[in-house]
Amino acid sequence: MNIHEYQAKELLRQYGIPVPLGEVVYSVKAAARVAEEIGGQRWVVKAQIHAGGRGKAGGVKLANSMERLAELADQMIGSRLATEQTGPEGQRVQRVLVERAAKIDREIYLGFIVDRDSQRIVVIATAEGGVDVEEMAREHPERIHKEVVDPAIGLLDFQCRKIAMALGLQDRMSPFVRILKRFYRCFRDKDMLLAEINPLVETEDGDLLALDCKMVFDDNSLFRQGEIAELRDFDEEDPKEVEATGHGLNYIALDGQVGCIVNGAGLAMATMDAVVLHGARPANFLDVGGGASPEKVANAFRIVLKDPNVKAILVNIFAGINRCDWVATGVVQATRDQRIVVPIVVRLAGTNEVEGRRILSESGLDLITAEDLDEAAAKAVAALKAVEA
Ligand code: GDP
Ligand code: MN
Repeated sequence: MNIHEYQAKELLRQYGIPVPLGEVVYSVKAAARVAEEIGGQRWVVKAQIHAGGRGKAGGVKLANSMERLAELADQMIGSRLATEQTGPEGQRVQRVLVERAAKIDREIYLGFIVDRDSQRIVVIATAEGGVDVEEMAREHPERIHKEVVDPAIGLLDFQCRKIAMALGLQDRMSPFVRILKRFYRCFRDKDMLLAEINPLVETEDGDLLALDCKMVFDDNSLFRQGEIAELRDFDEEDPKEVEATGHGLNYIALDGQVGCIVNGAGLAMATMDAVVLHGARPANFLDVGGGASPEKVANAFRIVLKDPNVKAILVNIFAGINRCDWVATGVVQATRDQRIVVPIVVRLAGTNEVEGRRILSESGLDLITAEDLDEAAAKAVAALKAVEA
């Protein structure tokens, strides 16, 4: 789960990490009031969406006057912002963060990730942070500094000092070490998968300040992170994914054309692989889970078909706890009730498969059936190619 920059900064503040003075607002009037309250001569207006790359896309702007501030807030609130990370249609800006602008001397990148290779939390830092950090990392990987944290003892002082030296922060050693250790505690406490402060700036006055922050939380820990779970903003998520969660379906939207309805996460992954192997791309990951009722299967069809890119559907069920007859009933119901016109390939195996196949064949519907995964994927891709031709 992602959260907004202003929410991440509030967490940093709670952990004693310095952040700029500011507040999130939903209207131009409130923007002016906040600027008034925080004072100073220069403010920054920042679009709050769950995507980075805002600076380059016009979602982060400086104002030297109250008039300009109001103008910027007016432009941003309600607009759509497309960045490198949103896709071309962009994301609607519902709120903006108004902050006192910082005078930046230099921009540092500081992050934590759960690294799959080392199976450890890893600190990542570079002295060349800012909006071009991804490009820099690609061209000059040697400028990225890493420290692997041992989970049994946590992040140690010497590791923090090593990072500080690598960043050229020997003069700001103790405030930096304090920030890094607090950031680590925050990361651990809140079950994050990723956290970035980019940029962490050294101001002209020599202070360190977290100017932007991104945090990603482990969905599997939200049950014990009630305060974090409440920060969830459904407007920022794919509505199909939100609806699927409500129906107890595990759905993730992708960019291909073959809609997949499968039971079990592993089989769903294998099904996606098989689709790619036969020359097409999956439109989604979808796990209907165990004991899927006909209604649940019909809901799965509805959600998959909300994606206009879906030109063929592949149903792949290996039923253990599931029942092929229930799934087949769901497929038939959905095809009739939803007047589905895209080709549907169904592979049923396991519990009650004979009954399941009978239901499909007696439905009189134009369903394509397959015996195994490979055949099913091949038929789905062929059906897709036929539609496209
Ligand atoms: P992102 O592009 O979505 O990562 O948004 P950021 O919040 O990181 O802002 C992008 C860039 O805008 C930063 O790297 C800074 O260079 C600049 N910026 C952001 N806040 C301020 C500020 O308070 N003062 C100044 N001078 N520049 C800022
Ligand atoms: Mn940033």
